[in-house]
Formats: sequence, C-alpha cells, structure tokens
Amino acid sequence: MIPNVLSIAGSDPSGGAGVQADIKAISANGAFAMAAITALTAQNTQGVTGIHPVPPAFVQAQITAIFADIRVDAIKIGMIANAEIAAAVADALQGNSDIPIVLDPVMIAKGGAALLEPEAVDTLRASLLPMATVLTPNLPEAAHLLGMAIATTRDEMAAQGAALCALGAKAALIKGGHLDEPHSPDYLVITEAVTWCDANRADTSNTHGTGCTLSSALAAQLAKGLPRAAATAAAKSYVAQAIAHADALFVGTGHGPTHH
Ligand code: PLP
Repeated sequence: MIPNVLSIAGSDPSGGAGVQADIKAISANGAFAMAAITALTAQNTQGVTGIHPVPPAFVQAQITAIFADIRVDAIKIGMIANAEIAAAVADALQGNSDIPIVLDPVMIAKGGAALLEPEAVDTLRASLLPMATVLTPNLPEAAHLLGMAIATTRDEMAAQGAALCALGAKAALIKGGHLDEPHSPDYLVITEAVTWCDANRADTSNTHGTGCTLSSALAAQLAKGLPRAAATAAAKSYVAQAIAHADALFVGTGHGPTHH
C-alpha cells in the first residue's frame, strides 16, 4: 500500500523549496503527498520578497479536514512562520503520537529572510519539538534552539544532538553542511545510538530547498516503514542525487533548485 505523507509547510511559488519541494520529494520517494499550507511566500531564486501567514485557525482547519478522512502515515513540518501557527499545528496534531513526525525547524532562508518570527522559537521548542520523531536542524538552527553558540567541531555537534534529544525530540539529525570541513558531516542521534553520515560536498549553488527536500524524503521513507537510520540514509542519498541533477535545470539566476 502506498503511504500517505502530510507536509505542513510554507509555499515557495518558484518551486524550489517549501511545499512545492516537499510534494516532489515525497512523490519521488514513493509516497502520496498532501500539503497543509502555513504561509504564502513571494520569492524566487534570488530571495524572499514577502510573507503572508495563513490565519492559525485555518491552518488547523486544513489539518483537521485531512485527519477526518485520510490515513496519515507520516508528517513533515517545515516553515511555521509564527508562534500562533506553531501552537495551532501542535493543537491539531494532539493525540496522533503514533505517527512519525519529521520536524525541520526552519528559521532563516539561505538568502537571509526570517521564515520564523524570532519570538516563535520558544513555542516551537516547547510545543512542537517534543512531538518530533526526528528533528532536522542545520547548525545555526540547532544552536538557536539550545541558546548556544553555533557548533564548529564534530564534538560540539554531537553534544548539541544529545541536548536536543534531552529537550524531547526522539531523534535529531543535525546537518553539518555549515561546518568548515571538506566533507559535509550530518550527525544522527537516536537516544543512545549515533551515526555520522558524511556526504561529499557538491560544487554548486543549486541548493535552494535542500532542507525541505531532505525532511520530506525522510518522512516518506519513515512512512514506508524504514527505521530511522535507514530512512535517513535513503533520504540523504535522494538529496545528493537531486543536487547532482540540478545542472539540468535553468530556473532563475540566483540559488537554483535541485532536480527531483
Ligand atoms: N521558502 C520556504 C517556504 C521554505 O520552507 C524554505 C526552507 O525551509 C525556504 C524558502 C528556504 O530555502 P533555502 O534556505 O534552502 O533557500
């Protein structure tokens, strides 16, 4: 049976990130994609020019409508824009603790735009983080959630992974792409078990939406029943392929999307 995956995230009309990337990644990873939209953005490959959050009650209404009718096998949560939407999402998902949730704590776009209001970090940490089957922060997001300096070594990454689990995430995949190393090391901590997943760095600026793509591919692989380490490996390999094939695209003149 094909599993159903729900993305709760923002819209990127240029198609590289947000729910548009999520739908492509979920579909390509063998699941049926659904999307409850938290915010509209106006953006292209050069940056974000506007953000229009959806009223929190309507975010909740979208999620409630899906659950009233459709089996949900995994959930990916991406951009949630503000504290009220974070609370509405947490509320709408209460009572579904058996469904795997991948939480990508989206904060700042690569171009510098804030996709989460700074005062919403506390709500995200308190209400959504404890629901996460896997939390997928990059290094700045992990540091921000913990109120710590950005990790600059693998030891610091490992310590922050453990600290995020202590905050309530069942597992954390810290993406080490920002680390000043020839490889891009990701660190997966599942309670006691840890895995380093190093990827070769790709010499490309076509990485717009890679975080959205990874978390969605991971949600789809978890929905198919893979354990977290295997699902992470499959999702990382999918993102590497999507980056490798990005050069076939001619989409904008800035940070281009990856090719699914
Ligand atoms: N737009 C939306 C709606 C997103 O959810 C995200 C990332 O999660 C981005 C833009 C930023 O993408 P990137 O930082 O990869 O360019």
